[in-house]
Amino acid sequence: MIDLIDVTAGYRNRPIIKNFSLRLERGNFVVLIGPNGAGKSTLLRVMAGLLPINRGMRHLDGKDYERYSRRLFSQRVTYLPQDRNLSLPYTAGEIVLFGAYARHGLWETLGESEQRRAREALKQVGAAALFDRPVTELSGGERQRVLLARSLFAGGETYLLDEPTAELDPVEEERVMHTFQGLSRKGACVVMALHDLSLAARYGNQLVLLGKTGAIAAGRPAEVLAAGVLSRAYGVPLQVERSEGFIITRSEER
Ligand code: ADP
Repeated sequence: MIDLIDVTAGYRNRPIIKNFSLRLERGNFVVLIGPNGAGKSTLLRVMAGLLPINRGMRHLDGKDYERYSRRLFSQRVTYLPQDRNLSLPYTAGEIVLFGAYARHGLWETLGESEQRRAREALKQVGAAALFDRPVTELSGGERQRVLLARSLFAGGETYLLDEPTAELDPVEEERVMHTFQGLSRKGACVVMALHDLSLAARYGNQLVLLGKTGAIAAGRPAEVLAAGVLSRAYGVPLQVERSEGFIITRSEER
């Protein structure tokens, strides 16, 4: 469980996240939404313990982040950054197996069962066939799935994912969202930044809307996806239709 209490954080003397509090409990599926530059990635880095905070407190399972070694922290929290740069010619299988670092240390030989689990993780994102392919030869969407498989393989109780579906086609997107929904239903905690508001509404059980001036709203999709609230965050008039899910379009300016 992650607790952010009145956190302020940012870059040099420029706070991006201001007096922000959020409690993440088992089974939560939280989606961070908001315009470019609102601070979604920054908030994920704060939650991943990669960016220091200037004020407030952050706890993992009731203990201050400072009390965890990086390795112990990564056994519980898995973070997928937005950067999908894979420039070394490892195979997809090897990249996934690197996800075992938090459990085993880097140089320990991984046995058959870990290899099987790595294949299984690739299969979960529809990328089983990539196991022996060098990642330098993969497309953007394929690399993204390899990194997602690594996150799944690394496991942990909490997954922090920065735009995990950015380069995926709609079918792969649904598969990935469905996989993480399954994990959250089994008690994992999932936090992801997404641009697609309809997808966010369909899968998230809690949305956090960040605007240029900080967090604007947090709560159930129906509360956060009110046209007025969204329009304020994005700075353009937006229209929200509810049919089976939510359809958000830009409305005509009046
Ligand atoms: P989002 O993920 O919502 O697009 P970010 O968290 O990436 O937003 O960025 C929030 C703000 O922080 C932006 O104004 C961005 O320019 C700034 N920012 C992001 N990364 C850095 C950095 N490494 N150093 C300084 N400023 C940064």
